[in-house]
Amino acid sequence: MLFNVNHNVFLTSRSLAAGLLSLCLGLWPIVVPGQTKNPVPEEKASPLCKAEDFRTMAYSINDVQVREKRALEWLSRYGKECAFKEIELIRANLAVWLGTADTDKVHQTAKELYLAKKPAASTLEVSKNTSTAPVIAPSGSIDTTATKKVKKLANKVDEKTAVSKEYALRESEIAQCLPNEIANWNDGAKDTKMLSPSMVYVYEHQGAPAGVSEDAVFSVLQQAASAWDQCGGQNTVMLKRDFFDNKSIFKIAVQWNDDDKLGTIGLANITKKTLTLSPEAFLNLKKANASRHLMETLQMVVSHEVGHFQGLTAHSRRCVDVLSYYANDAGEKCFIRDNGVMPKNFEYRSLLPTACDIQRCRMANNN
Ligand SMILES: [Zn+2]
Repeated sequence: MLFNVNHNVFLTSRSLAAGLLSLCLGLWPIVVPGQTKNPVPEEKASPLCKAEDFRTMAYSINDVQVREKRALEWLSRYGKECAFKEIELIRANLAVWLGTADTDKVHQTAKELYLAKKPAASTLEVSKNTSTAPVIAPSGSIDTTATKKVKKLANKVDEKTAVSKEYALRESEIAQCLPNEIANWNDGAKDTKMLSPSMVYVYEHQGAPAGVSEDAVFSVLQQAASAWDQCGGQNTVMLKRDFFDNKSIFKIAVQWNDDDKLGTIGLANITKKTLTLSPEAFLNLKKANASRHLMETLQMVVSHEVGHFQGLTAHSRRCVDVLSYYANDAGEKCFIRDNGVMPKNFEYRSLLPTACDIQRCRMANNN
């Protein structure tokens, strides 16, 4: 059985499609119905336990449930053959590689395999008493990504605002997309399919403004990535130092620099596959408004830019959408439901993709 990836639907690059397809074919033996009892040729069982293959499998499957199922199948098929280093690597990266398919069941399965393989003090034999086995330093710094928690960024508004009619309207616009509400500024090309069904945002913290931690930006990226997963693709975030490159992985480099003199905080370059954040623009914003919640702004910017990589080029006319902008040079304004007026005391635009952002994206991707 092959992966549930529709190459025609998602992949724009023929060579990438071919690369992924050949990897899939290489990884999974072709199973003819009726031969499912022993699908793995005996002699190939052991060399097939490679963390890298597990990762490629995980990144190739778009559907969360299928991904979980395949992960469990993979672990039961190859897990017992795994060298300790391989299973250690898999276990440490489950959250990153599987995303929401990293369920309790997968977690537990990997943990059992890991504990069964954990070497004792001076030998590489399986330890029977894992509680006294020495801790083996993880190779590289792989576990740092796996242990990062996704933190919810709630809007920081005062109590009065939180109970206001305008704020309630914003919330309902975020949660629900009514018929005919999808509209854009016609300022960009027609929506297209996402660049790839599976993208990895590789974050490099170097050059970030002072006071902005790597953890905070990582968390912002993960929030945006998993929110856009609702469109049907799989967006994963990794730190550059933890990332081992593989040509079959579709990468977007996330970086801080002012080389392009952006003038805005963020820029998605579809051709170069870069998401650039401007330290200068970020610091200017901080200077202009010290009380502003800068990480919320960064969340909004990152969610917006990630949206461009999902195939949405033009900007949304609906003010609340993360892909919106509020007004154009001609003085035309964005729309708020029921002729609502733009509030002055809080940011109306959503921090994460709204129901309309996601619906528009699904329409563009036929999901
Ligand atoms: Zn934009």
